[in-house]
Amino acid sequence: MDTGVKKIYLLDYGWLAGDMGFFIPDPATWTEKLQNRMRLPEWVEIPVTGAVIEHKDGIVLIDTGSNPEAQKVWGATWEVFPMVKYSDENRVENQLKLIGLKPEDVNFVVFTHLHLDHAGGAYIFAPLKTPLITHKKELVYALYMIWLGKVGAYQPVDLEPLRGASWYPFDGESLELLPGIDLILVGGHTPGSIIIRVVTNTGNTYIFTGDFIHLPQELEREAKGWLLGNADEYLTSLRKLKMLAKRPNTYLVISHDPKLWEKYPKAPKALE
Ligand SMILES: [Zn+2]
Repeated sequence: MDTGVKKIYLLDYGWLAGDMGFFIPDPATWTEKLQNRMRLPEWVEIPVTGAVIEHKDGIVLIDTGSNPEAQKVWGATWEVFPMVKYSDENRVENQLKLIGLKPEDVNFVVFTHLHLDHAGGAYIFAPLKTPLITHKKELVYALYMIWLGKVGAYQPVDLEPLRGASWYPFDGESLELLPGIDLILVGGHTPGSIIIRVVTNTGNTYIFTGDFIHLPQELEREAKGWLLGNADEYLTSLRKLKMLAKRPNTYLVISHDPKLWEKYPKAPKALE
């Protein structure tokens, strides 16, 4: 089966830290503390990641990482989600360089959603007029939150440079971006969260969960912590994701999985 998907490269946008409660509710280790009504913060470090899909019809970038000046520009959000490992090599343009690409070589930027650790590097694509693809619900909700003054996970500093950029919002349940690359609305975390299903020329399927799934434990527990947006969407889409994952030769790429780099190679190595 020739879908046109030649290679997939996983990008390393650094590491972020946060309280475990954002990701997983009541892990077993808290039970005793909860019984004593003493819940202490439990910090977890997670990678921030993206991907490049090399397709015969174009180069697709999934997510862009955090703003390189995050510590200065995120305000109070930095205290909640500090980027604990980040250097120049984690900038999107330098991750692209690892695989011999320049930002102008990217034909499509796809956002799993528009939170600060996914849309923060996108400003470099605005002057290049690179098509920016997001679910319409996500763009609308991000701007709505900012308009209400709910600045945190959505950062004006990320979205302001993208005002009037080459946006291509899609609506409905799914979009085939290119043969073998499907964008599927799941919601749950944010209203316009999508997952991306990629079928390679070799017959493997990789499903990029974005932050619909933050950590692998979610799959078993079927629960998300404080970052849960809509419980009904979450559970329904989670069962749908699990169903898709049962197909042969299908692998999940969970963007913030702390063990991601043990499971899959980083760019310049490729998945096929
Ligand atoms: Zn994220």
